[in-house]
Amino acid sequence: MTHRPGSQASLRAANIHRVLATVRAHGVLSQAEIARLTGLSPASVSNIVHQLGDRGAVELSPGIRGGRRAQEVRICSADGLVAGVDFGHRHIRVAVADLRFDVLAERRHACDVGASSATAFAVAEKLVAEVLDELGVGRGELKAAGVGLPAPLPPTGSSLASWPILPGWEDIDPARDLAQRLEVPVVADNDANLGARGELHFGAGRGVANLAYVKAATGLGAGLVVDGYVYRGFAGSAGEIGHLTIDETGPVCSCGNRGCLETLVGAPYLLELIRRSHPDLRTVEDLVARALAGDGGCRRVIADAARHIGFVAANLCNVVNPERVVVGGDLAAAGDVLLDPLRASIPRYAVLSVAGTPVVAAETGERAEVLGALVLAAEHLEHRHEHAASPTPARHHRVQSP
Ligand SMILES: [Zn+2]
Repeated sequence: MTHRPGSQASLRAANIHRVLATVRAHGVLSQAEIARLTGLSPASVSNIVHQLGDRGAVELSPGIRGGRRAQEVRICSADGLVAGVDFGHRHIRVAVADLRFDVLAERRHACDVGASSATAFAVAEKLVAEVLDELGVGRGELKAAGVGLPAPLPPTGSSLASWPILPGWEDIDPARDLAQRLEVPVVADNDANLGARGELHFGAGRGVANLAYVKAATGLGAGLVVDGYVYRGFAGSAGEIGHLTIDETGPVCSCGNRGCLETLVGAPYLLELIRRSHPDLRTVEDLVARALAGDGGCRRVIADAARHIGFVAANLCNVVNPERVVVGGDLAAAGDVLLDPLRASIPRYAVLSVAGTPVVAAETGERAEVLGALVLAAEHLEHRHEHAASPTPARHHRVQSP
């Protein structure tokens, strides 16, 4: 993953990743089936599968596939467990899975995450301990954790200091702090990037190599999957669509700029819009529930937000040309109340060649980010030999050992 894009080593790493992801998605496959599903040659698949077998990442056993004897390939589960931790603005969600991505237990805890990073970390540590207790396994079974935050994450070695988007977290290195608490390597990424990973492996992005995941929640963000990889950009802030300028003379945003998309469609703005007519509405969940029940004002607020998000999504289609736009986050629970006007904005603002890009709802709902965190942790384990051989950690996300 540290390889130069397009190099031979990079291509090989991409092929290994593709084989693992395909086996994981199907549970068990023959080598011929892997070749058919990945488009790789049987010789390449054989080579990769045996390398993964030597490394303990997959198990090979004799079996019957399609009436013929064939070696069956499955992900090795004896390698321990991974944890996913998703910090939202108002919740912490934790999941534990084996390396076949069977999610074994989950927890969600509502709290003001932005108020104090120390409190948030303590809660996350407690939730992980509870989940392991529930499963009756010791901490030693846990091999790695992935963590997501609603803020852009700069490359390894830097903290969140320069990002005033998550107050109460200045000078914090979340991967390092959580690694010390959980005593396993921790990999951190932005929540929208993790949502993209979650949908890529478990949801509407399965089988798609180029994907834009748009998260519409308290803030707005996008996770961009390019040729099967989450694109993080030079400083880790790729996909920050919430801070695209929509109105230069608009309200001042938490980032210090004016008229960002987030100031038009972020949860606080939407709730403010409806405050006078619906004083009892407190959360986006309330807004969505009322819209789904047919409330005209609530539907209008969501539809107008959808047009703004659609304008940005159309521009994203122009620039990145994804095969599919997947929409997640709290607001996506509104379904077609959100998606129909958003879809209508694509041909209105995008160039003709991408005007037909499908816009679909995320399938994993509010679990997309925590599932993506599990994928991130598992991928870290898969590439640990690569990390060990490399003098610097992978650039695409941050890795901290305890
Ligand atoms: Zn902004």
